[in-house]
Amino acid sequence: MAKEDLECSFCGRKKPETNLLIAGLDAHICDRCIEQAHGIVLEELQQSKSQELSAELVLKKPAEIKAYLDEYVIGQDVTKKVMSVAVYNHYKRLLQPTSKDDIEIQKSNIIMVGQTGTGKTLIAKTIAKMLNVPLAIVDATVLTEAGYVGEDVESILTRLLQAADYNLEKAERGIVFIDEIDKIARKSDNPSITRDVSGEGVQQALLKLLEGTTVNVPPKGGRKHPDQKFIEVNTENILFVAGGAFDGINRHISKRLNMQAVGYNIDKKELIDRENLLQYIIPKDLKEFGLIPEIIGRLPVLTYMDPLDAKTLRSILTEPKNAIIKQYTKLFEMDDIKFEIKDAALNYIVEKAVEYGLGARGLRSLCETVLTDAMFDLPSSKETELIVDRQYVEEKLTKATVNKLKAVS
Ligand code: ADP
Repeated sequence: MAKEDLECSFCGRKKPETNLLIAGLDAHICDRCIEQAHGIVLEELQQSKSQELSAELVLKKPAEIKAYLDEYVIGQDVTKKVMSVAVYNHYKRLLQPTSKDDIEIQKSNIIMVGQTGTGKTLIAKTIAKMLNVPLAIVDATVLTEAGYVGEDVESILTRLLQAADYNLEKAERGIVFIDEIDKIARKSDNPSITRDVSGEGVQQALLKLLEGTTVNVPPKGGRKHPDQKFIEVNTENILFVAGGAFDGINRHISKRLNMQAVGYNIDKKELIDRENLLQYIIPKDLKEFGLIPEIIGRLPVLTYMDPLDAKTLRSILTEPKNAIIKQYTKLFEMDDIKFEIKDAALNYIVEKAVEYGLGARGLRSLCETVLTDAMFDLPSSKETELIVDRQYVEEKLTKATVNKLKAVS
């Protein structure tokens, strides 16, 4: 056969119509068909990769998500419910990317308002663990506008990449928890007088991340490695959860509620639970506090944390799946020591946590203070049992030791 008569066995083009015709055993393939086939191979690979990831991602129904949270987080029922729905919708949207109609489900980024130590980070962590997705926890206070001393907002995505072991696809469906979002609220009502380094500028920079965009991310972060290659990260499917204490926001809520009450219903004033005003929070209160409306708009799911009362603190000590007391029991068990702590002893620890305003985080330090001596002495002794009663705790928790805890917490 003449050379020009050779043809591509796939598309039938004659050799002169191709740039390149490669011969196989009994067949030929042209450059165009190779390119096309290569495209198909890549697409298939991508699809199976994404299917693999989807199989790894364990999405449960909202009620199951809530039940899982219940095992680790005490109380906070409203937030657990709201989060379960938001997380479910977010990942449902992500797992079914091709929609036949024009209805595009928007991201359900979340903002949690509540005192520190009430379980905001714990909820985000627990959800990430359940879904088997990477989680980055970042502190908004270290973020600054590009060009200022501090971390650029892109560093958030560096952390997420690290949490995903640099697996880009995994990172792109991860969760970012931005703590202390209230600290980047606008400080004054007149933003233009001086440049507000840690305030509105950072909020502006965060906006594009929250809404979904492609960002060039330095994989090692920071400006210390100027020659690193950037990784393109798409934030479209990343779930952002923001948390903050918003100290003083009660004033805005209270003022608004009072005005409403005066407006049309005097009785309403009596129905307001003044002890827990956060439960009435609406987006407008966040605006009054100093978040810009665009940020509020991109964190459409707003929820609040209840303050932890003595009863909740008591449950936190013993009930969660990895409750503090269960952890000590296990630690002692490893040394073949049977550990028991009496109810009265636990109640006393809770009393001190409440009295000194140490919150849930303080529980751990209190227990640590109570048990350090025993954890030091017992492993090298012949003791096989440790029974902690109220008196034991009282002895260990002298005023001085608790004061020390208060200073560090
Ligand atoms: P926040 O993020 O609100 O400041 P964290 O989630 O970091 O608070 O809580 C600090 C610690 O206190 C947690 O690691 C957990 O041990 C405990 N804790 C706080 N709230 C709860 C809760 N509602 N249920 C169980 N443990 C809690």
